[in-house]
Amino acid sequence: MKKVIIIRYSEIYLKGKNRGFFERAFETNLRRAIKDFDAELIKQSGRYLVQDFDDDCAEEIMEKLKKVFGLHTMSLAYETSADLNDIFEVAKTLCKEEGTFKVESHRGDKRYPLTSVEISKKLGGMLLDYAKGKLSVDVHTPSFTIRVDIRENNRALVFGEFIEGANGMPVGTAGKGLLLLSGGIDSPVAGHMMAKRGMTIDCLHFHSYPYTNMQAKEKVVDLARILSEYTCGTKLYTVKVTHIQEAIHEKCKPQYMITILRRFMYRIAERHALRIHATCLITGESLGQVASQTIEGMTSSNSVVEQLPVLRPLVGFDKNEIIERSVKMGAYETSILPFEDCCTVFLPDFPAIRPQISEILKEEAKLDIEGLIAEAFESIEKIVI
Ligand code: ATP
Ligand code: MG
Repeated sequence: MKKVIIIRYSEIYLKGKNRGFFERAFETNLRRAIKDFDAELIKQSGRYLVQDFDDDCAEEIMEKLKKVFGLHTMSLAYETSADLNDIFEVAKTLCKEEGTFKVESHRGDKRYPLTSVEISKKLGGMLLDYAKGKLSVDVHTPSFTIRVDIRENNRALVFGEFIEGANGMPVGTAGKGLLLLSGGIDSPVAGHMMAKRGMTIDCLHFHSYPYTNMQAKEKVVDLARILSEYTCGTKLYTVKVTHIQEAIHEKCKPQYMITILRRFMYRIAERHALRIHATCLITGESLGQVASQTIEGMTSSNSVVEQLPVLRPLVGFDKNEIIERSVKMGAYETSILPFEDCCTVFLPDFPAIRPQISEILKEEAKLDIEGLIAEAFESIEKIVI
């Protein structure tokens, strides 16, 4: 008896004519997820099977598969011959000690001598005898279910539970977004959410080396790596904005430091996004969370972006909802490591909470905007993850 993982996919099947496109992306992502295990992936009647792997790796493979968007549910099944006695031997091991159960059967091979109802009845009877009164059948609300799937090759898959997958759409089916990735809690979650809708994600990080140290950069690389397990890889671009901060600090009123820096970040991000053929910017902003995330703050940074939409998937989320997602995706522990983010360099005591655009423009007029942006682009580095 060998372990086999059954994979069922989610929303993709709704996509009518584009179904092939979604399935191909899903399949590519599944293959990528299991590439380190000598396993075979096959497609079979509207689902996928992962098979021929070392049985001891089953849990590890399923952990990888849990991060593939588009995967609705999966089951760890045992493959045996289609002989009812063999099926029974496996089914026994899946039974709980006591409680109610039912058997659900499916015949992929219609030549099999028993109908699916007959398989369920016979196997159910065998399990009842075996349990000697500790189990009873309840077809409506059983405490567990034994499932039998008769395959074409005179083999059967026997399994119990459905394990919830990541759902969503396969990454690679909804264009590419450029995520402004800080070292905080929010932006990795924002990237995760857009990847769940099928978006390919590349990341852009602004640092203020030497005010921010190498550990801060490594933290962002780690976050990108955590995110990349969901996004089927990513590219992390880093840009130095130290000189921009110094220029703002020197020439502009301190309460506009953050607002003006933000506007530089957005300008740089849009230009970079266009270069790498990304179709939107993604940020981890949430309304009202901090001074720069008032609607006026968002308006002021948004207004320098000329062509692309800025997606803010967390805009209506509470911090604790974001933290919950961060924990679930496995980023939280890394996000809370205490390294300085570039935004805390030259932080004013009283940032402008409702920055007026006329004031901002007056302050910005003191700067060589294009020159500063060009210098930033000279520092760009690319890390393929
Ligand atoms: P996060 O938890 O993502 O750091 P935050 O609550 O700290 O967010 P801000 O610092 O106001 O909020 O940043 C808002 C958004 O701006 C971030 O979610 C991120 O998308 C972007 N951002 C901020 N700092 C950087 C940075 N150094 N590099 C890239 N993007 C950044
Ligand atoms: Mg931050």
